[in-house]
Amino acid sequence: MLSYRHAFHAGNHADVLKHLVLVQLIRYLGRKDKAFWVIDTHAGAGSYALDSAQAAKLAEYREGIGRLWGRKELPPAVADYVELVRGVNPSGGLKVYPGSPDFALWTTRAQDRLRLFELHSRDVLRLREHFASFGTRVMVEHSDGFAGLKALLPPPPRRALVLIDPAYEDKHDYDRVIHALKDCLQRFPGGTYLLWYPQLTRLEAHDLPLRLKRLPASNWLHVTLRVRTPAADGFGMHGSGLFVINPPWTLQGTLQEVMPWLVEVLRINEGAGFTLDSQAA
Ligand code: SAM
Repeated sequence: MLSYRHAFHAGNHADVLKHLVLVQLIRYLGRKDKAFWVIDTHAGAGSYALDSAQAAKLAEYREGIGRLWGRKELPPAVADYVELVRGVNPSGGLKVYPGSPDFALWTTRAQDRLRLFELHSRDVLRLREHFASFGTRVMVEHSDGFAGLKALLPPPPRRALVLIDPAYEDKHDYDRVIHALKDCLQRFPGGTYLLWYPQLTRLEAHDLPLRLKRLPASNWLHVTLRVRTPAADGFGMHGSGLFVINPPWTLQGTLQEVMPWLVEVLRINEGAGFTLDSQAA
């Protein structure tokens, strides 16, 4: 039984960081004409109305994309991401927040392919409906993204970005992502992998980055954005992290510019900050 619905969290600080980096990774792959695939193992519902009962309940977007909305003079990578969100908000007000499959669709070309997995029966219906007009360019699978990923690697064009974005409500996800990435690195070592994880007080979340850095990958980048001090009662997410395997060489410089800006704009209290480290072979 899946209880997590991304609609409650759409557009929050974690989505901002994840989608901004996702756009940068796809833009880089698009610099070469050769086709590539974007594989999204946990795709969500595709798009989120911010005035829906679910999104409005927690209104997490107000402390995420909402804080970027009225700003001018954004760093170029942030401006690129915000411009994409503006595309689905033509009236100027912030009413809709796109999911990762939308960002992937808008930044890929006719020759590229999207392969999306979503396990929640209602969200997958919405996702299917959302992408119904794209034919074989976008394939939506109602199945386990970890298993589906195995079957797709290596992808036919031998170029791909894989987004692994579980909800981690099930603590087994912490082990699953490690096993999945180990398997990916055997099947398709040259792929680009973007893994998202939450910063929480639980032990598994604390240990995950250490385990990721022990994977047999020689090139990686690790970025975290913390928006507040961990709550005294241990409740809630105080930040998030991204672990990118085989990042483009440009990503480090982009994030060095973007992260101090994001911390200032998204900070909730004095606990806000970022980390950025990497390893290159
Ligand atoms: N990637 C989306 C985005 O950035 O817009 C958000 C994804 S949300 C954090 C995680 C999603 O994974 C949920 O919609 C949940 O229903 C789905 N899910 C959970 N376990 C899954 C699994 N094993 N395979 C595929 N989808 C799964």
